Amino acid sequence: MTILDGKAYSKELRLEIRENAEKFYNEYGRQVGLAVVIIGEDPASKIYVNNKIKATEECYIKSYSVRLPESISQQEAEDEVKKLAENPEVDGIIVQLPLPKKFDSAKILAHIPTEKDVDGLCAENLGKLFAGEKTLISCTPHGIIKLLKRYGIDFAGKNAVVIGRSNMVGKPVAGLLLKENCTVTICHSKTKDIKAVTSQADILVVAIGRSRFVTGDMVKDGAVVVDVGMNRDEGKLYDDVDFDTVAPKSSFITPVPGGVGPMTITMLMFNTVVAAFRSKGGDELY
Ligand code: NAP
Repeated sequence: MTILDGKAYSKELRLEIRENAEKFYNEYGRQVGLAVVIIGEDPASKIYVNNKIKATEECYIKSYSVRLPESISQQEAEDEVKKLAENPEVDGIIVQLPLPKKFDSAKILAHIPTEKDVDGLCAENLGKLFAGEKTLISCTPHGIIKLLKRYGIDFAGKNAVVIGRSNMVGKPVAGLLLKENCTVTICHSKTKDIKAVTSQADILVVAIGRSRFVTGDMVKDGAVVVDVGMNRDEGKLYDDVDFDTVAPKSSFITPVPGGVGPMTITMLMFNTVVAAFRSKGGDELY
């Protein structure tokens, strides 16, 4: 069994991204810019935002951190995003989700222009992914495919099973696996007999947000297992896969932490540099 080390690969990728960000600076006289908007005091969101800002420093990207109190109105939140959308020095915008319940997230996200949507979450970017067109690919799915490719995982003709169908992870990762010529099945909360499906998977991606949902008896011998889950309970981090029983049956497996998480943040940096070059008519990193 081999550990898919997202932390180590991220380090290498961030050096490459930094080189491209420096190249952008040398060509256009300003740093690539990423705006990170956080509303409220959710402790997990604060950790994610701090990790993203740390990564911008590593990658020579200028961060515009916009921290807003939960007391602001929906209109004020939308106006903040509109301002960033109009700022020519901001190449990418992300709004850290989930927002406090009183906000209509979709209305706020709608103000992010498609070309600055470095999370790849808007309908147009998701649609382009499925249409096989050039887009900003959402960060977690993109990071998963990059990591698997790094370890030489074969995709063509393999049975890939994705558990979870969110717009952020499940659907786009299924789209990317399809693009890599896997035969893809998506499971969700209404799927009957999940074990019968997962035990056929050569590649199993688990993104459901339920601690240790997938156990060894659900996995085919020699499967490649990707655990996206990051479930916090009383400050502790739990994954979606029961590593102790699944790892011995797998050929490759991601750890939590140190697998998909760092790759996600790295692909956010990647997308931001891509967006910056595209704003100048270039397409350097693709
Ligand atoms: P989400 O939007 O809550 O979606 C969860 C999906 O899992 C839904 O499609 C749901 O099915 C399905 N599901 C829930 N319970 C199930 C069950 N018992 N059997 C089968 N399917 C079930 O979650 P998400 O945003 O995709 O995130 C999933 C996990 O990944 C979370 O732990 C999240 O924290 C983590 N995550 C990690 C990263 C990272 O960088 N590592 C990035 C993003 C997310 P229905 O559609 O039928 O409800």
